[in-house]
This record gives sequence, structure tokens and C-alpha cells, in this order.
Amino acid sequence: MKFELDEEQRAIKEAVHEFAEKEIKPRGRDFDKSGEFPFEILKKAARLGYIAVWIPEEYGGAGLGAVENAIIAEEFARADSGIGYAIQLTAMGCPMVYYFGTEEQKEKYLPAIPRGESISFLGVTEPDAGSDVASMKTVAQKDGDEYVLSGSKMFITNAKVADWGVVFAKTKPDARHKGISAFIVETSAEGFETTPIEKMGRHCQDSCDVVLKDVRVPLENLVGEENRGFYYLMETFNETRTNTAAVHVGIAQGAFDRALEYAKQREAFGRKICEFQAIQHKLADMLVKIETARLMVYKAASLLDAGFAPTKWASMAKLVAGEVAVEVCLEAMQILGGHGYAVEYDVERFFRDGRAGTMVEGTSEIQRNILANILLGKLPAAKKKQTQS
Ligand SMILES: Cc1cc2nc3c(=O)[nH]c(=O)nc-3n(C[C@H](O)[C@H](O)[C@H](O)COP(=O)(O)OP(=O)(O)OC[C@H]3O[C@@H](n4cnc5c(N)ncnc54)[C@H](O)[C@@H]3O)c2cc1C
Repeated sequence: MKFELDEEQRAIKEAVHEFAEKEIKPRGRDFDKSGEFPFEILKKAARLGYIAVWIPEEYGGAGLGAVENAIIAEEFARADSGIGYAIQLTAMGCPMVYYFGTEEQKEKYLPAIPRGESISFLGVTEPDAGSDVASMKTVAQKDGDEYVLSGSKMFITNAKVADWGVVFAKTKPDARHKGISAFIVETSAEGFETTPIEKMGRHCQDSCDVVLKDVRVPLENLVGEENRGFYYLMETFNETRTNTAAVHVGIAQGAFDRALEYAKQREAFGRKICEFQAIQHKLADMLVKIETARLMVYKAASLLDAGFAPTKWASMAKLVAGEVAVEVCLEAMQILGGHGYAVEYDVERFFRDGRAGTMVEGTSEIQRNILANILLGKLPAAKKKQTQS
């Protein structure tokens, strides 16, 4: 059993840290305020080969693994919770295409993502179907050599800035999860309309209401087989939850770094506040929580790299990291006292950006349901990864 990053992984962490300190950290407040997507920073990160590193070289990626992807996600979000999150999620639609798409789909859609020249989204949630994915109402009907998609999606990250995404729709409307299929939809398609939702944080990354008004896609845009979309989604949640968990470890670490630095400088009652045991215990508890979440992320990522679909570990990593981000950011704000509430000190932004950690990619309650199902033998803890092609 090995608990250390290897030499190459440590070198990646150091290089990405340096990049993120220089290019991401100083820009966080501005992008939070402007709400613009950080295209230019995405391109710089892509030029250094830091985007979607898990995509194999034959499809334009760096051919690294989920562990390296997690290391990068963490360093991006540690530097800034908004920009880091935004540039790390540009590959949201890619696991579905890579694991279940055709060779043509992979060649057409994947390579521009690691180059920072394209952004993707994943369209699952609907106004009346969030946790209960199987009750989605968007439908896809075959019409000659096309599918026609109609319905609406909600909270779709990147939908405004993306070029394409994977949209889930019913091909058998009465069949619940057994009637869902996945389609690649280009955002330039007629009838694809987006309206950004005003939200608490993650301002430089849109989350949109999406209306699909008879959007036509060619038959070849079906991902995998008809009516298998739900199963593909559950499998790729292992990748996306691990990635999201890594982002939230980064958010927690970023808030912790700032709180520790502040506690070493700030004086009260003639002492640095880091000398008060009350503050020391907060910092110690924050450290334990972050390291716990990080180990869970690395475990899930290592299992992904070993060819498993590690439902138990991806779910635990997402659960723990999402909750830790919220708890650590709140404590960081408390350590900064009134300054924690001021925009100038950044930790309030980390809190706002990290708050959705217990909601996205399956809420904390849903992760606990999954884990209970594993405990009760209703779901496997892990299995060998399946791929369509
Ligand atoms: C910032 C942000 C970005 C997002 N990005 C995307 C995206 O890119 N793509 C996408 O498809 N979706 C996205 N989402 C949507 C997100 O995945 C959903 O919000 C989430 O799955 C929960 O669905 P819901 O909001 O409809 O809540 P609901 O499902 O209505 O749940 C409401 C509450 O009930 C609880 N609950 C529901 N069912 C159960 C149950 N069986 N047992 C116990 N408790 C339960 C939930 O945990 C929650 O507390 C995003 C959301 C946010 C906030």
C-alpha cells in the first residue's frame, strides 16, 4: 500500500501550483465580480497541458490518470474557487463520449477540449427531475435520420459557453430509467436556448436553464445504445464525482491556507490569534477534514486508474469533500472574524463557490442512499469498468 504521490505526480503538483498562484489566484475577485468565463486562463492552462489530462493522447489529451486529474483540480481550485472550478469543468461531457461514444464521436469532440478551444456540458437535471433522474420528461423521437429532442433542463453548467454537450432524454417515456438515452447536442443547433440562472457563487461559470425546442440531431449523435443512457451516466458519475470531490478539496485547502496565514498575522489581546487554543483547534480540525477528504479522492482516483468503476469510493469522496468544503470555508470565515465577511479577504467567495458541494453530482443525501444500498447488497461497491466501444 502506497500513500505518497510519485515523483512525476509531485512535479505536476508543483508546476500546477506555480501556474495557479501566478495566473489564477490574483484574478479571482475580478472574475467573481464580472461573471465572465475565464477563457484566456483556460487557454494558458491548456497550452501547458493541464486541461482534461485523463483524455488519452490519441484524442489530444495528456494521457495521464484520474490521480493526476485530481491533483490539478485541487491546485486550480485552491488558487481560486471560482476560476479553478470553471476551467476544471470544461470537460464535463467528455467521460460519456470517451467511455461510450463511437470512434467518430471521440475524434470529433474530444481533442479540442484539452486544447482549451472547446467547452462541453452534461445535461441531466430538469425543473421537475433532479435527484430522481428517472423521472425526466425531455423526450427524443426518431424522425428519419434524426432524433428530435424536446423538453427543458436546469442548472446546466457551461451551457451558455459550451460548444457541445451530452443531453439525456427519454426514448421510451414510460420506462423510467430503462428508457433514457444520451445524445451529443451542439449548442449552435436550432432550438437550443439557454438562460443563465443567477446564483450565490461560481459566478464566472454559468449554470443555465436550457430549453430544447425540437432540437434535431443526427442519428449518429446517439451515445452508445438507445435506452442505456441511465446506466452510462451512473458509471461515468465515478469519474465526474471524483473530479468534483477533488475541486472541493482544493476549495477547502484554499480557504484553509488563507485562514492559517491570517491567524499567524492578526493580533488580539497582545498575541497572534494563532496562539489562542480555540483558533488552533479549529485549524487542527480543518486540517484533519481536508486530509481525510483528500485521501478519499486519491483512493477513488487510484481505483479509476486501475480500471474499476469504484461507486463506493467515488460516492464517499464526493460526500466527504462536498461537506468538508462547506465546513472548512465556514470555519475559515470565523477565523478571519469580521474580515471573513469582507470580499477583500476572499474566504467568503470560497464559501459561496464551495457551498454547492453538497448539492451537485448527487446531493449528500443521495450519496448516503447509494452507500446504504451498497451496505445492503443492492449495489456493488465497485466493478470492472465497462465501455461500449
Ligand atoms: C451550481 C450547480 C451546478 C449544477 N450543474 C449541473 C450540471 O452541469 N448538469 C446537471 O445535469 N445538473 C447540474 N446541477 C443540478 C444538480 O445536479 C441538482 O441540483 C441535484 O442533483 C439535486 O437535484 P434538485 O436540485 O432537483 O433537488 P431535489 O432532487 O428536488 O432534492 C431536494 C432535496 O431533497 C433531497 N432528496 C431528494 N430525493 C431524496 C431521497 N431519495 N432521499 C433523501 N433525500 C432526497 C435532496 O437531497 C435535497 O436535499 C447543478 C446544480 C447546481 C446548484
